Parts: sequence; C-alpha cells; structure tokens
Amino acid sequence: MITAAELGHLRRHVGQARASGKSIGLVPTMGALHEGHLSLIRRARAECGFTVVSIFVNPLQFGATEDLGRYPRRPEEDAAMLAREGADLLYLPEAAAMYPPDFSTAVEVRGVSEGGEGAVRPGHFRGVATVVAKLFLQVSPDAAYFGRKDLQQVAVIRRMTRDLDFPLRLVVAETVREPDLLALSSRNAYLSPEERRQAALFPKALFAARDRVSAGEADAGRLGRDTRAALEGAGFAVDYADVVDPETMRPLDRVVQGAALAAAIRLGKTRLIDNVLLLEP
Ligand code: AMP
Repeated sequence: MITAAELGHLRRHVGQARASGKSIGLVPTMGALHEGHLSLIRRARAECGFTVVSIFVNPLQFGATEDLGRYPRRPEEDAAMLAREGADLLYLPEAAAMYPPDFSTAVEVRGVSEGGEGAVRPGHFRGVATVVAKLFLQVSPDAAYFGRKDLQQVAVIRRMTRDLDFPLRLVVAETVREPDLLALSSRNAYLSPEERRQAALFPKALFAARDRVSAGEADAGRLGRDTRAALEGAGFAVDYADVVDPETMRPLDRVVQGAALAAAIRLGKTRLIDNVLLLEP
C-alpha cells in the first residue's frame, strides 16, 4: 500500500493507476477505522481497480465547542488495517496544506443541509461539502463511497455532486451495526461501559418505530414524537427525531415509501446519530 501525504504524490500515483486502465474508487474517512469503514473499502475494492482511502479529521466540519481535539486518532492501527484490506493508497493530507491561512472558499449546499444535523451543528455541512469537493478534485475518482449511517451527509453530497457536475458515481453502503444494533462509529470509543450498554436503546427505539410502520402506522408526526419520548424515557437528551425524505431531508407528514427516521441523541459527553429506513422504496 502506498501512503501519500502530499497532493503531488497522490496525483502521481492515481495518474499512473488511471493510465494503466484502472478505475479509481475513493473512500473518505476521518480514521479510527472500524467495520463500517471497512465495508465501504471492500465495496470499493470489489468495484474499482485502484482504491484510495483518505484519512483527514477535517477541522472545518467541527464547531468551536465540538470534539475536534479529542476525536480518536489511530494512524498506525488504521494503516495496518488498510494494508490488510488491500487498499491501494492511503491519503493523509495535512490540515495546513488543505487549508492555508488565507483559505477563502466554501461550498454551501442550501436547503438539504439546513435541518437535522445542520440545525444543531451550524456550519458542519459547509465544512463537509468543502472538504469532499476538495477530495473529489484532488483524487478525481470514478466512484466515491459513503455510509448511510450519515444520511444527511449523503443527501448533501449527492446534491453537491449533481449541482457541481462532479463526474463520478456515488455509492451508498448500508449501516454496519454491532450485535445489539448500535451503529458502529468512531465516537462509540467515548462511551463508558455503562453508557455503551445504554446506547443500545438508541437503535432499539428506531427499529421499534420501523416495526410500527410495518404494523400500519403512517402518521409521521406521531412516530417522530413517540420516538423522541421513547429516547428521552431511555435517558438520552434528544437533539431531533424526525421522519424525513432522505433526498431532500424535509420532514414528512406521512410515512411514504423511502421515508427514513433520523435521530441524534446525547449520552453524557457523547453525541450519536443514526437512522432507519421506515418503508422500502
Ligand atoms: P467518518 O470516518 O465517521 O467520517 O466516516 C467515513 C465514512 O464511513 C462515511 O461515509 C460514513 O458514513 C461511513 N460510516 C461510518 N460509520 C459507518 C457504519 N457504521 N456503517 C457504514 N458506514 C459507516
């Protein structure tokens, strides 16, 4: 596996791969890799001739009071995992190179980035869209891989990709979960053993809502309110629990085909997000 910290180095290797007829897959991550990330990497490896994994804890997408400083960083374990998985290139850009002191440009994806996470984390999706646009331009992948766990991120990137004509295919992979259904997340490392046990009640409430839809519930407002109450009853602070259209991220009145229930909770100092598809499209 090649490791590249500089853009010139990255471009040289990606250029060579493309010249030899290989398609390029990109998996953007913030590291502290787990099976959720690996599922994206395996998919990229299956579909592309040359798989680039980026690890960059993007300061632009963290608010001033958020966890940028304590976000888990495990560069050596990550590199060993990626080598084992057969990733072709690990791209580790430096923040100072990505964002020189007079960096002045931002990508703003209006509408779809404003509710949900965007309402609670102002500027978050501007940071995400800006870094993903840079990575798309730096790597020029044929396909880019994202996880459905970050539902609104997928919506924002899908819209940006269309609006700005990025010539690539977006691939969205299913959420990988622990046996108790907690979605894998680098932030799960923050949980104490007691919090980790309690955290299983988060996906449980989301899947209970999905079961109610299977049993005929179609009132999206009631489902959102009841889910919020269930999460609060389980001891979480709830940022939101909304039934949304995953393309637009607009709240829905009725549970229509393709509707998702997206939620964010806080447990001690840890903030977790998750979502479930309520009704197959
Ligand atoms: P992150 O390192 O948290 O920025 O995540 C990098 C990519 O992995 C994003 O596209 C995430 O949506 C995806 N991802 C994170 N957790 C999971 C998971 N449990 N299942 C599937 N994909 C995931």
